[in-house]
Amino acid sequence: MAQIPDTVRALMRPSAAELEPYDPAFTPVEVNLSANENSYGLPAEVRAAVNQALAEVPVNRYPDPLAGELRAEIAAYYGLAHENVICGNGGDELIYNIFLAFGGESHTVLHCPPDFSVYELYASLAESPCESVWRDPATFAIDWEKLRARAADATVTIVTTPNNPTGTLADPAEVEALALATDGLVLVDEAYMEFADMRSCASLISHYPNVLVLRTFSKAFALAGARLGYVLADPGVVSALAAVRQPYSVGVLSQTAALAAWRHRPQIQPTIDEIVQQRGELYTRLSELGDLGVTVWPSSANFLLVRLPHAHEVRCRLRDEHSVLVRDFSSAPGLTDCLRITVGTPEENKRLVDGIVSILREA
Ligand SMILES: *Cc1c(COP(=O)(O)O)cnc(C)c1O
Repeated sequence: MAQIPDTVRALMRPSAAELEPYDPAFTPVEVNLSANENSYGLPAEVRAAVNQALAEVPVNRYPDPLAGELRAEIAAYYGLAHENVICGNGGDELIYNIFLAFGGESHTVLHCPPDFSVYELYASLAESPCESVWRDPATFAIDWEKLRARAADATVTIVTTPNNPTGTLADPAEVEALALATDGLVLVDEAYMEFADMRSCASLISHYPNVLVLRTFSKAFALAGARLGYVLADPGVVSALAAVRQPYSVGVLSQTAALAAWRHRPQIQPTIDEIVQQRGELYTRLSELGDLGVTVWPSSANFLLVRLPHAHEVRCRLRDEHSVLVRDFSSAPGLTDCLRITVGTPEENKRLVDGIVSILREA
């Protein structure tokens, strides 16, 4: 991608002028374990149902702006009303819209790094000051007391559970106490909740009008390419998000694919169970590499965070010599020498572990 020349930068809005284009550092490889996608994809029968539904969609018409059918079925599943649900072009768009609606000068965003890098990026675009309550550097646990105290002055406080990239869970009782401690909004990012053995904070929505729960079809539902996420919240908050959104941001093909997948939840569940099973096995294999300097954290998501010697170099060699791509966090604050590895199929995980072992043995 071309550089942004100074002459162009001078014309950019001040909150965007410092930015560079997003680079996911994607390289074509045989085994991609870098983006927390569902490595198994949709089961064949579900894929067939999605294809069938897509074949019948009229694409000459604009989509239903609020994805009414999908919205109603999602709401029913959670025991909520359709007014409690808003869909977006991936969870990312909804995060962006939350800051667009609720951010701006003196509307502080509070979060718990190391977490999802998108929060700071989008908050800065919305000219929102961003503040941090850092997680414990060894366990990545949240300091709830500190977070509650600081949240009192924040407009939006974000709790990511399971957290990306650490895999750490948050206790819903702590989230509830946080919701009570602030008049601001509490965004609970549950992008990976389907992989966790924990109840969703969705049950808080009916009791706490300041709680928002974010979910996505990109991870467990194997539809990262379709771009579909949703927020569960109080109807008033949903209306504020509806007011700032681009009316047609969620295309009719995405709505249709997501609806078909949603209706096949029971058929997708075995894949999710399999990923959880593989996560356990991969965790065990990596834990056994302690003598090679490997540390791995327990994870409730579809990825594992590992710390190992010369992580950046290991990541490059995995890519170049083994055609396995993982995500490099080695230069991110609080994540020195860390890599994030998406759980793959048994063959993919074996190739990853064999690659790490052979690289570290040589070092
Ligand atoms: C992947 C992810 C999302 C949403 O991803 P989309 O593909 O935009 O739906 C949200 N939050 C976290 C923490 C994620 O990792």
